[in-house]
Amino acid sequence: MANIAFFGLGNMGAPMAINLIQAGHSVKVFDLFPEAIDKVVKAGGSTCSDPKEVARGADIVVSMLPAGLHVKALYIEDTAIIDVLSPECLVIDSSTIDAESAQYTAKCLAEKGIDFIDAPVSGGVAGATAGTLSFMVGGSDSAFDKAKPILEVMGKNIFHAGDVGAGQIAKVCNNMLLSVLMVGTSEALQLGIANGLEPAKLSEIMSKSSGSNWTLDVYNPCPDVMTGVPSSNNYEGGFMTNLMVKDLGLALDTAVKSNASTPMGALTRNLYSLHQKAGNGTKDFSSIFTAFSQKNR
Ligand code: NAD
Repeated sequence: MANIAFFGLGNMGAPMAINLIQAGHSVKVFDLFPEAIDKVVKAGGSTCSDPKEVARGADIVVSMLPAGLHVKALYIEDTAIIDVLSPECLVIDSSTIDAESAQYTAKCLAEKGIDFIDAPVSGGVAGATAGTLSFMVGGSDSAFDKAKPILEVMGKNIFHAGDVGAGQIAKVCNNMLLSVLMVGTSEALQLGIANGLEPAKLSEIMSKSSGSNWTLDVYNPCPDVMTGVPSSNNYEGGFMTNLMVKDLGLALDTAVKSNASTPMGALTRNLYSLHQKAGNGTKDFSSIFTAFSQKNR
């Protein structure tokens, strides 16, 4: 069993850390919010007021932070836990961040002989809790092999996408496609509703037809078509619009840097940005469905 230091105990990080504890690993945790730490300590983790002491002696460090600036601050800049990590340590960053920040962090750690993988996830809070996340990994073959048994505690599908940064590229491609599907599903359902169709019946028809897709079949954005999804819970929980706007920004930055054409991604980034500004930032991203409502006219 490994000594693991875990940083970032938010919606995703807390259940991921708890799964590592329940698998028998020794897990020391840290977050900027004491309440977030308490929850994981109650589940069997330990902590320390100094983040450097949390990291000292770790075989593996896992981080689940909001954005690239937080990752660089933790490892290299402000907190600089790089100072206390041993060359045998493996760093797994599961935050969704820009590929450049992942590559910069990896380069700084490599100068001390420390392995790094970027390992962003898909599957949301439900997947984090159930230990069924998909991991998209960027890093060397040897770092991937070392990380795999740890990732398998928290996830079901573990993919090696390529070198450092490749996991982040795979993640933004996936989330850009997800946003396009969610917007398309929402406007199709609203078109049917505006013309007298029952959304549950229309969903059933399209699910068995060529319009079938994950946002329609598993995560339907129309309230009360499905149970256990954010749309049937006032769009609470799930994946916040704020985070989708962040991920679409990463996708478009990536497109600009590589001169790739992503017209649908650009359109959905603008739609989600408007939706966020209309006061829906903390609502689940499926709430974009409400933007197409006839009632808004
Ligand atoms: P969150 O805001 O709930 O949690 C982030 C946590 O990081 C917060 O508790 C914050 O206090 C902590 N933090 C920030 N800086 C820190 C530092 N220096 N040291 C320790 N803790 C620090 O976010 P989340 O929903 O858990 O998402 C985390 C990452 O996972 C994001 O990059 C997000 O895009 C990605 N993600 C989220 C989901 C989802 O459904 N929520 C799904 C897939 C990927």
